[in-house]
Amino acid sequence: MILKPRFKDYICTVSHPEGCKKNVLDQIEYTLSKNNIKGSKHALIIGASTGYGLASRIASTFGMGADTIGVIFEKPASERRTASSGWYNTAAFEEAAVKSGFNPITINGDAFSNEVKETVIEAIKKNFGKIDLIVYSLASPRRKDPASDVIYHSVLKTIDEVYENKSVDFHNKTVFNVKIDTASNSEIEETIKVMGGEDWKLWIEKLKEADVLDHGVKTLAYSYIGPELTHAIYKNGTIGKAKANLELAANDLNNYLSDINGTAYVSINRALVTQSSMAIPVVPLYISLLNKIMKEKNINEGCIQQIVRLFSDILYKENVPVDTDGRIRLDDLEMKEDVQKQISELWDKISTENLKELTDIDNFEDEFFKLFGFNRSDVDYSLDVNQNVEIKNLL
Ligand code: NAD
Repeated sequence: MILKPRFKDYICTVSHPEGCKKNVLDQIEYTLSKNNIKGSKHALIIGASTGYGLASRIASTFGMGADTIGVIFEKPASERRTASSGWYNTAAFEEAAVKSGFNPITINGDAFSNEVKETVIEAIKKNFGKIDLIVYSLASPRRKDPASDVIYHSVLKTIDEVYENKSVDFHNKTVFNVKIDTASNSEIEETIKVMGGEDWKLWIEKLKEADVLDHGVKTLAYSYIGPELTHAIYKNGTIGKAKANLELAANDLNNYLSDINGTAYVSINRALVTQSSMAIPVVPLYISLLNKIMKEKNINEGCIQQIVRLFSDILYKENVPVDTDGRIRLDDLEMKEDVQKQISELWDKISTENLKELTDIDNFEDEFFKLFGFNRSDVDYSLDVNQNVEIKNLL
């Protein structure tokens, strides 16, 4: 089948297996170009198929030499549709990992469910005995609470007042104003249920009860803060409330794991083009400006650069460097004073007319299509490709 991109807003409904594979191989190559990182031997990555979770799985395996269990929520191909990009990414990761002598295991299912947690525990017992690293990298619009079977939905809204700011339609290259409503109390609560720390804690509790956590185990969850410009929609909005709850969970987990010398961290990562960040109003325009400035300063990083830096320079230091709230700050380069000064100077000036000149918008669109395996110069998209790709070690 010849595959062409088809998109709706910030989702591509077609993914290209060859392009996804090349994206994964690029990340592996970058990881291998860094010195061997000492750290994990057996890691569990929850949300392992795209974005920061995929980078964490790749960096664990090809940087630290760890065997991994990856939990993903992806769709295989059907007669009428390609598989999702995370499916193809995982197939490519597994193929490369097996070729290099690793034993990767993937579970495709709802990470919020008890069933998936139990399947993971069985797989750890059978294959690894214990694990020493758990990365929690889920981004989801809904969660079914396993205790009640109630389905909660997360929303991206403000809390105090209706908020208006610029956003971008990166397909049409137009800048427009968005108005974001305030959330009701129940919307705030539901967003915390989905994207807060409850499920992370459930995972760690179940793993500890099953006695599959190594002495000195580390667990990480990813978060974002960003500059004043995005605070109304992110840090001080519904998603920010959920992320504050994630930080509380890290404190609880540090107490809970202290008897096995375990530690839990929230890592504040930089804003990047991923399937999840696309959905947040204002943020795509901010990222396209940020990328331009960071590239000019030669300090731009993608998911894999961030995570390799996290594993090699931060997480396995004897004294893990954290901010005053105990968080790892991988957003240090994004938040540099000179970078943010330039952003605030330029933000008000951005319009449809000067969008291409002031921001990295063309490249942003390119990165969007790359998430789904398109727009790579080394893939011939006119060729027939088999969309039915198997993930071999799928449980
Ligand atoms: P992403 O959409 O690329 O990845 C989400 C992952 O979660 C995918 O592997 C998906 O399969 C998995 N997933 C979603 N629902 C699931 C479910 N029910 N069961 C199993 N797996 C499920 O997102 P991302 O941007 O890499 O985000 C990962 C984390 O990083 C999030 O917590 C996000 O808030 C955080 N973060 C993202 C950014 C950014 O700019 N993208 C910045 C800082 C922090």
